Amino acid sequence: MTEPIGVYTVRNDAYEIATLPGAGSRPLLVRDPEPRTLVSALTAHGRASELVIDHGYWRNVVATPAKPSAGVGAGGLFAAHLDEWVGSVLTRSGTAKVLSPSYFVQAGDWAALDALVSALMTVSDPRLVPFIATDAVMMGSANISRFRRALAPLDGRPIALLFAAKYRPLTSKPALTALRTVLAAHPGAWLVGVEPLVALDAIAHGAGRVFVGTSSTQRFPRVPGCGGGGFNAAGFVPGLLHSELLEMRSPMIYADWYISTRAPRCTICKAPVDSFSATDQSKKAIRDHNIHAMSAVYTAMTAMAPGSLQLSAHKHRLSGLLAHTALLPRVPVTEFDTTLRNLMRIDARTLPIPPAVRALI
Ligand SMILES: [Zn+2]
Repeated sequence: MTEPIGVYTVRNDAYEIATLPGAGSRPLLVRDPEPRTLVSALTAHGRASELVIDHGYWRNVVATPAKPSAGVGAGGLFAAHLDEWVGSVLTRSGTAKVLSPSYFVQAGDWAALDALVSALMTVSDPRLVPFIATDAVMMGSANISRFRRALAPLDGRPIALLFAAKYRPLTSKPALTALRTVLAAHPGAWLVGVEPLVALDAIAHGAGRVFVGTSSTQRFPRVPGCGGGGFNAAGFVPGLLHSELLEMRSPMIYADWYISTRAPRCTICKAPVDSFSATDQSKKAIRDHNIHAMSAVYTAMTAMAPGSLQLSAHKHRLSGLLAHTALLPRVPVTEFDTTLRNLMRIDARTLPIPPAVRALI
């Protein structure tokens, strides 16, 4: 079976993650503008078969109708150029794939999006994955119909999608609802740069593969011009997946939540969720934990309702929300994860929600 959960990371962390024991078999998407060295190293390590490269043009360059992507010449000679481009960046011996070198489609720029889709329609090299990186505003109620029409020519093709924002894309009810409808129209699509909750819901609604970011910059992509989040404050401890609550918070937050009780331990690395610190070694342990915890969470989700991934995802969220009741009243409901609560509010439109959970959303 195809492994649905992949990891999205950057060049400097890629080799370490690719060679972690827990992440050893996980599909890996690496953002690297000059990937030859990395591809060679991971090919030598036997990891190229599940390796995908993102050159990251979308982070800095905005698509225009005349120039929607790198590797695309003027005059409509898209096919030769994009297929030639992939040949120039991947060696023949490697089996890695690469996202198309698409530029970023700004919110509402339909002419640029249509030009990009036209270019992607002509891709024939199976190593090149047609990629659309755009503003999550496209998933808002004012744009979603037009956005879906723009993507329609790509029906039946493998595509990868990334949604960026100035701050935390794919957390609102309209965006999360729209994501389900887009995935229904493009079953098997890849979703790049998301957090675990969105990843699980996307798989349940048809995504073929999701790439969960190893840092908040890769979990919540920023639109060009908004920076990459800059330097974190001294003592910053990255987000840690709490597999029982389905939260992804800094262990410092968990320390506060569990100040008067014993914090739960990860069943795999055995570490209490509030035990990590700001040292390099601890941050590495967090990256390792997040990958193995994500696999465990996915396994737990699929066991919730065998035969129906959507019902599994829903029941899994119910269980995650109910686990929060142990934190009440010290931690108010409003501090619980916004995405988790919004996904449950969307579920509540069609599924019966127990009163105990209704009180939490
Ligand atoms: Zn762990």
